[in-house]
Amino acid sequence: MSEAVSFRVEHQDGAARAGVLATPHGAVPTPAFMPVGTRGTVRALDTRDLAEVGARIVLANTYHLMLRPGAETVAALGGLHGFMAWEGPILTDSGGYQVLSLEPRVDEDGVAFRSAYDGARVRLTPEGAVAVQEQLGPDIAMILDVPVALPAPADRVRRAMERTLRWAERARAAHTRTDQALFGIVQGGTDPEMRAESAAATAALGFAGFGIGGLAVGETPEERHQALEAAVAALPPGRVRYVMGLGDTEGVLAAVGQGCDLFDCVWPTRLARHGKVLSARGDYSVRRAELAEAGEPIDSDCPCLTCRRYSLGYLRHLRVTGELLGMRLLSIHNLTYTLGLLDGARRAVAAGKYAAYCESVRARRRTRHSRGRLP
Ligand SMILES: [Zn+2]
Repeated sequence: MSEAVSFRVEHQDGAARAGVLATPHGAVPTPAFMPVGTRGTVRALDTRDLAEVGARIVLANTYHLMLRPGAETVAALGGLHGFMAWEGPILTDSGGYQVLSLEPRVDEDGVAFRSAYDGARVRLTPEGAVAVQEQLGPDIAMILDVPVALPAPADRVRRAMERTLRWAERARAAHTRTDQALFGIVQGGTDPEMRAESAAATAALGFAGFGIGGLAVGETPEERHQALEAAVAALPPGRVRYVMGLGDTEGVLAAVGQGCDLFDCVWPTRLARHGKVLSARGDYSVRRAELAEAGEPIDSDCPCLTCRRYSLGYLRHLRVTGELLGMRLLSIHNLTYTLGLLDGARRAVAAGKYAAYCESVRARRRTRHSRGRLP
């Protein structure tokens, strides 16, 4: 069993928990959100920005980095920490999810697809995904899971879930780095029974932590609730639980309330690059014409650089003219908002007031600006 990371629950409030995930590159208070640095960079931000917005752990994508610049090159430049100049904890996904959009051919041995960069044939196996991540050198690596696009027939979801279990075993046998943890991934679509079965069998393999994959892909909140409930009940209480790809306000609040600890999502930064801001009083686009002369910040209570220094009118101007600074400033704000949401959740759990916290966040979001909803 890997000793590279450990997890300690410090407070519990209902099912919600506040804990600390200890890694070789520092401790992460949970619940926590991981900004997504797809190609070894959270787009438009440098790692000093990330530290300033309060990020404690960053995610990078194995699939992209193995193709460009290649895992050997990253290793030669000091591994991911040296490569991207980030001294804090890093988690890499295994590539399964990205491969999904490339119409992969999946067989028992692994998955074959064409590189989105140059069309070259690439093959990824459970062992190969581990080897690549050992070269990349994150604190936490993920097993390769079997991609399945939802909705899918139950028998296809079951075959993918069972194959993921066999791949989890192979990944575990192949993993050798003692300064890196390997996490298993729970699959099973939206079927609670399959989720429970997958979680119990993955837990039995003894991973240091557990991803819950294949959610936040368009299922209803109720379907997600049931899938998470079944998975969480079958996972060991002393290990960290990571809902992969989830990062919207409502989704995160609900999942924390169910006992999940770790989240990642491209949306806060992707929306920022499209001129959309997340805020405590609702999400909206800065492109709107009536903001042209708005002198106030996005959110006068927000501590971020963008809200301390810049007016909505200026941010609108940057967006309308396509200036790069606009992407950076909105990314800084949206990450500050999302990380602050999780920070608040952690404090509320510690104080035994998590339900009241969720209610106050929701109430504030209902008293929207007159700017309306995201289009
Ligand atoms: Zn702000």
